[in-house]
Amino acid sequence: MPKHTTFAGETTKRSATKMERRRAFLRVPLCPLWFRFLLALLVAASFSTTACSKGSTGAVIAPPAASAAAAAKSDATEPVQGPPPDSAPLPQIDAKRAFQYTREVTAFGERYMGNENHKKLEHYIIDHLKGDQVEDDAFTADTVEGKFPVRNIIAKFPGKKDGIIAILGHYDTNYPLRNTGFVGADDGGSSTAILLEFANQLRGKTRDGCSVWLVWTDGEEAVKTWSDTDSLYGARHLAEKWEKDGTLKKIKALMVMDMIADADLDIQRDTNSTPWLLDLIYQAAQRGGYQSHFYAIQAPMEDDHIPFVKRGVPSADVIDLDYGYNNVFHHTPQDTMDKLSSKSLEIVGNTVLETIRMLDQR
Ligand SMILES: [Zn+2]
Repeated sequence: MPKHTTFAGETTKRSATKMERRRAFLRVPLCPLWFRFLLALLVAASFSTTACSKGSTGAVIAPPAASAAAAAKSDATEPVQGPPPDSAPLPQIDAKRAFQYTREVTAFGERYMGNENHKKLEHYIIDHLKGDQVEDDAFTADTVEGKFPVRNIIAKFPGKKDGIIAILGHYDTNYPLRNTGFVGADDGGSSTAILLEFANQLRGKTRDGCSVWLVWTDGEEAVKTWSDTDSLYGARHLAEKWEKDGTLKKIKALMVMDMIADADLDIQRDTNSTPWLLDLIYQAAQRGGYQSHFYAIQAPMEDDHIPFVKRGVPSADVIDLDYGYNNVFHHTPQDTMDKLSSKSLEIVGNTVLETIRMLDQR
């Protein structure tokens, strides 16, 4: 992915996190004043607790939020956010297999649009989708560095309910980083791999819920310098195409997977994404007990979801663009398998499958 967004130092990041949580907390809207005061007390109590319990910020802060939601529920004057009251088992991906896919994809080496390794990877993806309904969205991109062949690969898993849930992840690596040893294990590798694992989970009989479409996007990366016109080649083409053929109106939600295997997983809350969908993903994460890996940092992201956001499709970018201290591994030859963990793929994979299940019920 994307535009290189830098975060301030670790200290700033932590305090910003607390501020954000504090703000989010006090925003619990429409409560009577006495209730807000009670909330403020709870917040103060939780922060004094976290001061001496390093690393447990999320876990310690979460309970008051949950009890606040419960209290608000008894008030019954407003909709309440929280995990749904059902006991369905949390979906489980095969994280070891997803990690192995990441390793195999990364082993192809640099995979920029149109190069030999990219072609091998296209075949690799298609080979893993045997028997599935697969479509291509292929075209030629005219760029500042010349013409490039672009190929989005779409696998469709039909459902009985109306509507489509689209999951996107890019499989290209950066043209400007060719010949530098960049192999994009996390950036390009992890997104390709998790979609392959989603296909394994979705394959089989017609889904009871919505249709799920998996899209391996191409040309996400800039060919020279990131801008509105030099980036997101595949996603921009697909959004335009789906707008013309009426597909966009059927998309209930769209989620982008990008850089999701960092062993030190912290998915940012992207301020360009659709808030209710981000909240739903968080609820899904809560069901798995994964919430401490989500939304400690809030930042605007430019990624494959943007062309769809611009067209009014509910969309969320699921990305950890805090890769190594101060994001030092991003777009460097250090983006290699040793920085990644199958546990992170498991956290994101299970959370996204659970989000799909929750979307099915809406
Ligand atoms: Zn990138």
